[in-house]
Amino acid sequence: MTREDARAITIGNALDLRLKILDDRFQMALSFPCNASLYLQQQQHQEVKEKQRNYNKGLQAVKNLINTIGIPSISVSPNESLRKGNWVKLICGASFEDIVDIRNLSLIYTLAGVDCIDCAADESVVTAVNEGIDVAGEIVGLLRRPWVMISVNDDEDLHFRKAEFDPEDCPHDCSRPCEMVCPANAISLELIPREDKSTHGKAAFGKFQGGVITERCYGCGRCIPVCPYDKIRAVTYVRNAAETAQLLKRSEVDAVEIHTSGRQTDYFEELWNRLGDSIWHVKLVAVSLPYIGNSTVSTMNKIFSIMDPRLSCYNLWQLDGRPMSGDIGKGATREAISFSVHLAALRDRPHGFLQLAGGTNLQTVDGLKKAGLFQTTENGSQQALIGGVAYGGYARKIVGRVLSQIQSHYGLMNIEDHPDHLLDALREALTLVGTVKCYNIPY
Ligand code: SF4
Ligand code: SF4
Repeated sequence: MTREDARAITIGNALDLRLKILDDRFQMALSFPCNASLYLQQQQHQEVKEKQRNYNKGLQAVKNLINTIGIPSISVSPNESLRKGNWVKLICGASFEDIVDIRNLSLIYTLAGVDCIDCAADESVVTAVNEGIDVAGEIVGLLRRPWVMISVNDDEDLHFRKAEFDPEDCPHDCSRPCEMVCPANAISLELIPREDKSTHGKAAFGKFQGGVITERCYGCGRCIPVCPYDKIRAVTYVRNAAETAQLLKRSEVDAVEIHTSGRQTDYFEELWNRLGDSIWHVKLVAVSLPYIGNSTVSTMNKIFSIMDPRLSCYNLWQLDGRPMSGDIGKGATREAISFSVHLAALRDRPHGFLQLAGGTNLQTVDGLKKAGLFQTTENGSQQALIGGVAYGGYARKIVGRVLSQIQSHYGLMNIEDHPDHLLDALREALTLVGTVKCYNIPY
């Protein structure tokens, strides 16, 4: 063997050796990710199983709470509740159109046993309400669904307006009281600093961006007087009668509420006529009106005479005490109570159930009890004098606290995906609904 041959063999062996090392490394490189990904997969699988366990446990806690309380309205029909005087309506808001919140609110309050959910006369809102009810049914199995009611107006009305302003008109040093006072978190402002050549690259006074989140604004008007620069205006609107009539013909809608000021029954009559035969499709017609002094009952009688020829379902009078104020404080409910005391004392009031709204909150039932009107009947009647209570701002506020907590963590979400939070929200809702339904709440 020559020196060259030996060298060639050595080189060959070295090459073989290097190839082998590379091959081993390659195999290792191949096998390591395989093991790692298997490990990761197992980890993920464990996490998913753990999450599923917690999820099932959370939902079971929700079901247990409902079973412990034995929520009767999940099986008792809404009209029966009206007759007994324990009807509860959730008011999502005639102008509130945030469909994520509306879906979650509907789910929670359906579980809590409300008889009716009142919402904006808008197709996507109605769909969101029904979806919330469907999911509640999947969780507990409903023997009956709450009625879905849409709200419309015959003329200008506080419930049918939106706040508006141009944030670019706002002085940069405004402390934004509008944002702070809004109960619906419907105002969001951000001060954008502006770079200016004259300031040599330093931030100059900026401009506000954002403004009113239209779908969240429900027209309470609280932002308007607090603006020191008078920048906010209210834009009112009247729901389209033809579109309302189409919605009423759909099976997803059970009831309609007509808001009227009571000052002009001509407007009511015009809307009633335009709704035409769509009224035949609903189970309940509600008329919401404020107290208008001595003419209240005569106006109600006039309205009833307009409806009567085409009224083949239940009818209800919503006594709107102090509109959209239930979340303000305990005393907000006084006007609704005194409205009901006034009407209950009259013998010539028109046919139909009576229900409180406007300023209703946790104190409302106590107020009714003190007035001797809670679930009491008139002589010889099987029907309660006051059919029940509708809750709006207060109901949304107590559950809204939980909803906004979750949203700040997870963004927009379906509350049933977070059963612990669903349980928290349900406890809040049960405390309120339970005042009318007389639940025995174990907490
Ligand atoms: S009107 Fe009420 S809900 Fe609308 S933006 Fe103003 S404070 Fe908020
Ligand atoms: S309070 Fe008035 S001026 Fe100030 S940010 Fe709000 S709308 Fe603009």
